[in-house]
Amino acid sequence: MPPILQWLRYSWLPGLLLVLLCAHYLSWLDLHALLSAESSTGLLAIALFLGIFFKSSRVVFAAALLLLIYLGAAAADWLHGDLLSLCLALGAVNMALVSFSRDRSVVSVFGVLLLFVLLLQGAGVYLLQSCCGAPVLGFSLQIPLPGHRAEVSLAALMFGFGALLATIKLLTRPDFTGWGLLLCTLLLAAGSYFGLRLDIIAAAAALLLVALVLRNAYELAFRDELTGIPSRRAYSRHLLTLGRHFSIAVVDIDHFKKLNDRHGHQVGDQALRMVAGKIARFGGGRAFRYGGEEFVVVIPGRDRDSARNSLERMREEISAYPMRLRSSSRVRGNSDRARRRRGQGGGKTIKTTVSVGVASSDSGLKSPDEVMRAADRALYKAKRSGRNRVCAHN
Ligand code: GH3
Ligand code: MG
Ligand code: MG
Repeated sequence: MPPILQWLRYSWLPGLLLVLLCAHYLSWLDLHALLSAESSTGLLAIALFLGIFFKSSRVVFAAALLLLIYLGAAAADWLHGDLLSLCLALGAVNMALVSFSRDRSVVSVFGVLLLFVLLLQGAGVYLLQSCCGAPVLGFSLQIPLPGHRAEVSLAALMFGFGALLATIKLLTRPDFTGWGLLLCTLLLAAGSYFGLRLDIIAAAAALLLVALVLRNAYELAFRDELTGIPSRRAYSRHLLTLGRHFSIAVVDIDHFKKLNDRHGHQVGDQALRMVAGKIARFGGGRAFRYGGEEFVVVIPGRDRDSARNSLERMREEISAYPMRLRSSSRVRGNSDRARRRRGQGGGKTIKTTVSVGVASSDSGLKSPDEVMRAADRALYKAKRSGRNRVCAHN
């Protein structure tokens, strides 16, 4: 999938954030009446438990962090104004740091350490309000701009630092959870800047976290982990949505066992990813990994010729693509010779081919199962006729 489409796949989450922020200004939607302290706490608790259930420790830590701030502010009547902004800014920095961690067991050394650090920060905030709050809260940085000087408060600096950290994490190791946590960081900053009530910020952040967990669960269920394209389960669901006219192509990598035996399973996996990418891009329809080294492409519409043309182009793209070997995984050990032989894999390229069988719904075949079986028969014809070709069911 081209990078721009990858980003679009993620764009509904900032959309949700915008809707949540805009909802605050809709006069007919009285969020203040809609939300109570219990509903915000409840939403955060739901996000926390969903995170535990789906083993997403980053979501659990983020929800726990927000719960601590929210319940802390509810319990301590001195926590408002600049001090609350500072707390939210601390929360934003912690959120960004959490996004750098990897998902692990919630009860871990990292989890205990994080809890300890959060409690320490809580104690720091308490000390701030009870003794030396004014100089710290009043701190601001003077930034000379053309024509005037801008004053940036400590909280604004910390929000900026948190957002920068979360952005760096997203750019270096992009993933959906990192994206969601960056948005939560921005939500805390926007909420504080626009002076939103804390229960609205908490509820909006909790909704973002719940959406994040559900989206991750969807990916787990319907996306193939190795190749990143939709899985066989997604294929079964997609068949339920088909119209009357469609074609199904079955794509099988040729002599894949030999490729695995000769170059190792890591290179085999690399080839699977490359082929999946080409099928998704050039197959002319929706591509799924059916299992092993077999893929299916579902092409909607009654234009059989154009379906076959795009499959032919896809086959050519795959057979012409020189795949650069990353490393020869079969060569293990730390000796100079092993290192040299591993390094050789880096410059070497190999090519692989696929055979394709395709059948259409309007050739006397009605159900997707019948069409798939006919495509499978056409695939065996392609294999028997010498591989690296597209054969159609007549
Ligand atoms: P043909 O041209 O007739 O299709 O021969 P083939 O070798 O491609 O087919 P065969 O069914 O004999 O072998 C398929 C191989 O695919 C066997 C299995 O080890 C390999 N395979 C299946 N799934 C994966 C995977 O996820 N990763 C890797 N590296 N190999 C896989
Ligand atoms: Mg096969
Ligand atoms: Mg094969």
